[in-house]
Formats: sequence, C-alpha cells, structure tokens
Amino acid sequence: PRLVGTGSDDVERAAEAALRPKRLEEFVGQPVVREQLSLMLRAAVARGSAPDHVLLSGPPGLGKTTLAMIIAAEIGSNLRITSGPAIQHAGDLAAVLSSLEESEVLFIDEIHRLARPAEELLYSAMEDFRVDIVVGKGPGASAIPLALPPFTVVGATTRSGLLPAPLRDRFGFTGHMDFYSADELERVILRSSRLLGTEVGAAAAAEIAGRSRGTPRVANRLLRRVRDWAQVRGDGTLDLHAAQSALRVYEVDAIGLDRLDRSVLTALCTRFGGGPVGLTTLAATVGEESDTVETVAEPYLVREGLIARTPRGRVATLAAWEHLGLTPPQTADV
Ligand code: ADP
Repeated sequence: PRLVGTGSDDVERAAEAALRPKRLEEFVGQPVVREQLSLMLRAAVARGSAPDHVLLSGPPGLGKTTLAMIIAAEIGSNLRITSGPAIQHAGDLAAVLSSLEESEVLFIDEIHRLARPAEELLYSAMEDFRVDIVVGKGPGASAIPLALPPFTVVGATTRSGLLPAPLRDRFGFTGHMDFYSADELERVILRSSRLLGTEVGAAAAAEIAGRSRGTPRVANRLLRRVRDWAQVRGDGTLDLHAAQSALRVYEVDAIGLDRLDRSVLTALCTRFGGGPVGLTTLAATVGEESDTVETVAEPYLVREGLIARTPRGRVATLAAWEHLGLTPPQTADV
C-alpha cells in the first residue's frame, strides 16, 4: 500500500521497514491470528465492503504494525498511520477521519493512549461512520455531523486490558499476538538474511533465534548486528562464531535478556531481596518509566518464569536468582 502519514527517518526504522512481510502468506508465525484475519479479509473483499475494525494486542515488536500494513495490502487499499500520543485533541482526530477515503485503513498505534475526547469521537466514527465537527465555542457552539465513507480502524495496543470497554467493543475482531517460538524466529531470520543479501548459517540462525526474546524485531536487529560484526571483525561469514561474538559485544545474554531486562531482574533481587515490590518502585529504581518496564521488559521475564506477578507485587523466582548467579535468601519459596 501507499503509505500516508508520519514516518521516522531513523536508520534502524528504515532497515526494519525493508524486512517487513508484505502479504499475509509471508507473515511468519501467529497461526491463529493469521487464519482468523485471512478469513475475515477474504470475506470482506468478496463482498466488496470494508472489513470490520481490528484490534491487535501484544508486546512491542511482535508484528502489529506489519499486520496493519498487510491488511491494507490484502484489501488493495491505502494505509494511514497515526498513534494515540500523536493525537492531542479531538480536532486532530476529526481532521484525520474527515480526510479518509473509502475503504482506507487507519492504523492507530498505542490506541490505549488516546485522549478521552478523541476516544469518544472515535466511537461514533467506528460505529456509524460519522463525526460531529464542533464549530464555535461555549454556548453558541454547534455540532455539524459529517458522514464518513466506510473505512477500517486497526488499533494496536501493548495492553488490551487498558482499553475502556466501550472502545474494545467497537472492534469486530481482536487478535492477541504472542511471543514467537525459536523455530518461528529462525524462519524470520532466514527470510531477513535473504532480503539483506547475506547468508546466515543454520547454527548462527538458531543461536540468534534463541536469544531474540521471542520477538521478530529483536531477531532482525540482532541479525544486523551479527552482520556488522562479521563484516568488521570477521571474514564476512555469518557463522556461529560471529553470532556469539556479536551477541557478547551487544550484551545479549545466553537467554536473550538485554540490559533493561537484566537491570530489572538485578534490582529486584539485590535491592528488594527478591520482592515482592511494586512495579512503580521497581521502575524508579532502574530509572525507567513504569509503562516501559511493564510492557517491554516484564512480559518476557514473566513468560520465561523469572518474575512472578503476585497481588503484593513482583517477585523474583528461583530461576531468576540462578540466572544472575546469585544465592537466593533462605526464605525464597517461589
Ligand atoms: P509492532 O508493531 O508489534 O511493534 P512491527 O510490526 O513493527 O511490530 O514489527 C517489527 C519488525 O519485526 C518488522 O520490521 C518486521 O520486519 C518484523 N516482523 C514482525 N512480525 C513478523 C513476522 N510475523 N514475520 C516476519 N517478520 C516480522
């Protein structure tokens, strides 16, 4: 699809864009979401109507933006990109909505961060394809209803639990994106290396896959770092030695934890005796936003069984102490 909207010219972003699968059949993994979406899109295309609104939830880097682009491509339409934080006022959203053309896909990243008035405007736009444009201020203000052509909202959120129920209810389809298996990540890496015009050895691909935190974005990024290492310090071959050496330089540990993951885990064990400790306190200790710790680091640490969420706060499991090479206190019983 032709991309309309804001983009970042950041180099890593550009590198990422080049590796995005363009069609559903190229999209690796997420078999459930893929099949459900495929059915829905084919039915909509056959009927000649805009597909239902789609909500995608899951941790960053799992392919939500990519899927939004794929949805637009599959229905042969344009994609417009915006995000919750980019929309400060309801008027900003009204401007975007009123410029939509028939069957376009509007991608709203971080939709849980939309301001309340914008969110309310979105309700009627999604449900009745209508926005009320407010003209004037105070008692003299009046609302002019504006009909919109049928379009499809694709919302992405790192935490679907944060979406108010009325907003969640307006999506005809919700896809939950899960972390990828090592096997799926290996396929992502092999595909990306082909696109980059390099050849990654099987052992190297497996090594990178195993250390990518279940996340395609991380897999692609590590692949590029391994390629850098091979080019500068090696002989250009992306083999196991290059993979291991590059991952050591970039401080990715044996199970793929990065600096943020490790600092959260280390703080939990060494500063709070393994917990329980509240997320806000923990985040402040490592100098990060609670939101970042909760949506970026924690889901993977929980999934790897290193952190447990309890009603009294976050707790380090025995596996966490072992991973850090620390001795747990005698009372650790998690
Ligand atoms: P999100 O929007 O969930 O943060 P993105 O859609 O931006 O994630 O995906 C991040 C990167 O990972 C993209 O550049 C894309 O190339 C890659 N990627 C994500 N999902 C897949 C997939 N299923 N198959 C292949 N590559 C993927």
